[in-house]
Amino acid sequence: MISDELIQVMQTAQTVVVLTGAGVSAESGVPTFRDALTGLWENFDPAQLATPEAFQANPKLVWDWYASRREMLADVTPNAGHYALAELEQRYPYFYLITQNVDSLHQVAGNKSVIELHGNLQRVCCFNKLHVAENWDDSDGVPNCQQCGAMLRPDVVWFGEMLPEDAIDTAFAVSKSADVFISIGTSAEVQPAASLPVHALRGGATFIEINPHPTMLTNRADFVLPYPSGEVLPELVAALNLRR
Ligand code: NAD
Repeated sequence: MISDELIQVMQTAQTVVVLTGAGVSAESGVPTFRDALTGLWENFDPAQLATPEAFQANPKLVWDWYASRREMLADVTPNAGHYALAELEQRYPYFYLITQNVDSLHQVAGNKSVIELHGNLQRVCCFNKLHVAENWDDSDGVPNCQQCGAMLRPDVVWFGEMLPEDAIDTAFAVSKSADVFISIGTSAEVQPAASLPVHALRGGATFIEINPHPTMLTNRADFVLPYPSGEVLPELVAALNLRR
């Protein structure tokens, strides 16, 4: 599964940048974006729930959808792929993990250098994104911000919204400096995250893709590992440990 050539590339790298998407959490039981609507929510299109317009039109529906995702996450733990990434971080002087996920599982697994592009489901802020709320009571519907009175919403990036400026600037800067860039479990359909591997390639990085299914970026990858990340990442770390 892991070639000698790939091991050599990983061994000589100083700066490793990883981009993760929903696929890295699939083996923890977190549905990917495409699978996100099951049961109660199966008749809704996620793109129709994850927009500021949807929230303004039907705040309770959107709040409840996110509350159900938050509840689901309470029982979820990192998988072997998350832990392998935490171990990988220890090996390199410069290691950055850019994630599109909002589930905190990289942090729970032990990664320190995490750049969250799409926010975090566990955080809640006011609708105009000025105030973060630590506590809220949603028993009577969508709660309001204690500071400005606006409705509270999940602190995630919805379709049509700007990404947090610091996060995306840092993500582009570290991608440009990467010796190795690894894209894991992302369909590479959501911009601007999907541009990061291309940016890294322009900076001279070796590009590795880990995804059981081909993406728009697969034919640009120097190495393709078409396997679940929970299987291949521990193998990669084990192979590197053997050659220490
Ligand atoms: P996506 O759902 O568009 O694509 C998931 C990708 O993961 C697919 O290409 C699939 O082939 C791959 N995949 C599935 N199982 C895998 C596995 N075991 N190992 C490796 N790859 C696997 O997800 P995306 O590209 O991240 O974009 C969707 C958006 O939805 C993102 O913006 C993200 O914020 C959001 N989202 C986040 C979570 C989360 O936080 N866990 C979950 C669902 C959606």
